[in-house]
Amino acid sequence: MSDQNPLFIPGPTNMPDRLRQAMMVQTRDHRAPDFADTLLPVLDGCKKVFGTKEGHALTFPASGTGGWEAAITNTLSPGDTVLIARYGMFSHRWIDMCDRHGLDLRIIECDWGAGAPADAFQKALTEDGSHAIKAVLVTHNETATGVVSDIAAVRRAMEAADHPGLLLVDCVSSLASMPFKMDDWGVDIAVSGSQKGFMLATGMAILAVSPKALAAMERAKLPRSFFDFRDMLQANRNGGYPYTPPLQLIHGLRESLTMLEEEGLETVYARHHRLAEGVRRAVAAWGLKLVAQSPDLYSDTVSAIYVPEGFDSNTLTDHAFNAYDVSFGVGLGQMSGKAFRIGHLGALTEVMVLAGLATIEMAMADLEYPVRLGSGVAAAQEYFRMSRSHSLQSAA
Ligand SMILES: *Cc1c(COP(=O)(O)O)cnc(C)c1O
Repeated sequence: MSDQNPLFIPGPTNMPDRLRQAMMVQTRDHRAPDFADTLLPVLDGCKKVFGTKEGHALTFPASGTGGWEAAITNTLSPGDTVLIARYGMFSHRWIDMCDRHGLDLRIIECDWGAGAPADAFQKALTEDGSHAIKAVLVTHNETATGVVSDIAAVRRAMEAADHPGLLLVDCVSSLASMPFKMDDWGVDIAVSGSQKGFMLATGMAILAVSPKALAAMERAKLPRSFFDFRDMLQANRNGGYPYTPPLQLIHGLRESLTMLEEEGLETVYARHHRLAEGVRRAVAAWGLKLVAQSPDLYSDTVSAIYVPEGFDSNTLTDHAFNAYDVSFGVGLGQMSGKAFRIGHLGALTEVMVLAGLATIEMAMADLEYPVRLGSGVAAAQEYFRMSRSHSLQSAA
């Protein structure tokens, strides 16, 4: 029966039955004339979620990591300088990828728990009078630390420095769960994937690309083949794909977009905020601390939580899995042993979140954490009752 338990990792996320069924389709010929009717509305629907009218949406058979590679290889040349801050495992891994591609890195080191440092970016960009920096890379939601960064502030910093660089943003663990406004924020490439906010199986990188990024693409010399935007754009224009498309995922994505539209994106964001706030109330009731340094940085899709001094977060996540068959996020990188994570994104309800909180409380009690059983659950219950009656009243 344990396959009935929800996941509390920040991706891959729980797949609603409706999406599992939508992905269960028989193979069809992607060169048949009707493939365009399947693909093109899906790309159009993605643009709404990215918040772009001007950009193009593209999908590749890959995970989010492949989306990063597509973003940099299509817009940069060997030896180009990129500006990036390291404040968690995902920004760290993107840095590593840039390094392996022979890019020149200007890295701003930040505490894990901080967000993208708009002021430091502005300083570095202002000092870059010769415009050696070709792109600023930002992880919108640092899944390792539960930190969401202010992308609009990064764009303002670029404007204040009067800098022409591209803004490339990883929104893998925020898109379709937290507000994302590609055009308003001046994002040039936004990278996401199928297995987080879209609640689908892993296997598709989902990107949106601005006209400015496409202009940079014409000059970009990093080797690329499978991920070449030119092949994808040209095939898409004719309603096709440059190679065999992940048809089942495209069908799933169509249904996912329908679900998001039915609930309403604003309602989806509000639900994520409410569930996240319930988790944060529980964390406070346990007397534990979030890794995120301040409330403006709190992510609505994942909370990273320090365990008390003298405890090991890996023992806690292992025990929750072994004893109760429930997965919570482990501490990544320098958070290993120090923090565990509760993923609260995708197909999730208050009932499910309460079950997760109750489970981790049991695991903590088993391991003799100084935490009272039911304390976090009660705090979340109070918040859910209050926020729900509030939203019921405003609906009336
Ligand atoms: C999940 C995730 C990725 C991509 O990881 P894949 O395993 O390649 O899909 C990238 N960035 C962030 C912030 C993520 O949370």
